[in-house]
Amino acid sequence: MKAYRERTRDELCELEALLEGKYQAFKERGLRLDMSRGKPSLDQLDLAMDMMDVLHGNSDLNSKDGVDCRNYGENVGIREAREFLGEMMEVNPDQIIIYGNSSLNVMYDRVAYSMTHGVMGSVPWAKLAGNVKFLCPVPGYDRHFTITEYFGIEMVPVPMTPTGPDMDAVERYVSGDEMIKGIWCVPKYSNPQGVTYSDEVVRRFARLQPAAKDFRIYWDNAYMVHHLDFDDKDELLELVKECERAGNPDLVYKFASTSKISFPGSGLAAVAASHANLKEIKKHLTVQTIGHDKLNQLRHVRFYKNMEGVMAHMKKHADSIRPKFEMILDCFDEELGGLGIAEWIRPKGGYFISFDSMEGCAKEIVKLAKEGGVVLTGAGATYPYGRDPKDANIRIAPTNPTLEDLSLATELFVLCVKLASVRKLLAAA
Ligand code: PLP
Repeated sequence: MKAYRERTRDELCELEALLEGKYQAFKERGLRLDMSRGKPSLDQLDLAMDMMDVLHGNSDLNSKDGVDCRNYGENVGIREAREFLGEMMEVNPDQIIIYGNSSLNVMYDRVAYSMTHGVMGSVPWAKLAGNVKFLCPVPGYDRHFTITEYFGIEMVPVPMTPTGPDMDAVERYVSGDEMIKGIWCVPKYSNPQGVTYSDEVVRRFARLQPAAKDFRIYWDNAYMVHHLDFDDKDELLELVKECERAGNPDLVYKFASTSKISFPGSGLAAVAASHANLKEIKKHLTVQTIGHDKLNQLRHVRFYKNMEGVMAHMKKHADSIRPKFEMILDCFDEELGGLGIAEWIRPKGGYFISFDSMEGCAKEIVKLAKEGGVVLTGAGATYPYGRDPKDANIRIAPTNPTLEDLSLATELFVLCVKLASVRKLLAAA
């Protein structure tokens, strides 16, 4: 296919008219489709429905340690839940605390606590004279950015590379500026690019020498078992142990949840960290709650049993969503390949496809798609403050719609990409 930039003005005008006609026809169909958020589909949710029955009619609702899960107490989580999530998060059960239903909530709490109380005796961030800053690998997860923006923390973008964040930049910032207090990371099948950090990148994280003693890596391992193909998985080096090995045990908070394993909003969330970090977190937790939902912890453990159970379950998830990813990516290859107007990444796991349009086109594509009946994640959402300097990145979330709806939505999306690109080129010519 001839690249758009190599076409004459007349050819582009002709193409615009053709695309315009197709777009209007789409609009008239009155579609109402949504590719905006990374939510599991109904099929995926149904896979965990038997969990609803594992405690039903069961008179033994005690944990392994004899704690009655119906009652108050055990605010770090019952032992079997710590063993279960510890195995999944590749840390010892005594290095993990089970929270409620949302890991994002735990991250928010960590930032809020650091603002008001500091980190292990440091000055509370809110009392510091200058601007507290966080590094934000971009493109990244919008809700991370929303947390730091909410607390008035200045966000400093760091470019992502195919192996993780640009570590030269990370090291420079972290060791050179004591107002840099954290970095947001999604180290496996990152949101939105699906990048897994290389061993080298993880080791460089473990060996960081921050100017700020209260700097922490916010290691959000949300997609730790979310492979699209279990015969071709990415591996991620485990950071809590790497930090210990590097003599920096307190450098990291590692977060995870079962939101996209069991039920988003009704799963289990956890934080893993060094004993010193956990000691501080427990102090806070004791004030915050007498205990999280232990029946949900018990339910999860009795349903999945162990890591083998989780992997068998996640294979079913992969079988359910892989065709959706493949359909979209094949459509991009076929319809957009060689046109020189877009780039995209073929992820091996996670929940998203990261798409880059020509510069200055993302907002227009999202707008056209919306008017045509398909809601996408807002352009710019993958950047701090919603500001994508190139106005190019769009996050596509394939999991939730049915394959049939997704196929229609993809057809419209591709049309919008072509239309916005042709118009951009014509305007520039
Ligand atoms: N972290 C990342 C990277 C995510 O993509 C998401 C959801 O999309 C979350 C966290 C939300 O996790 P939770 O449901 O545990 O709050």
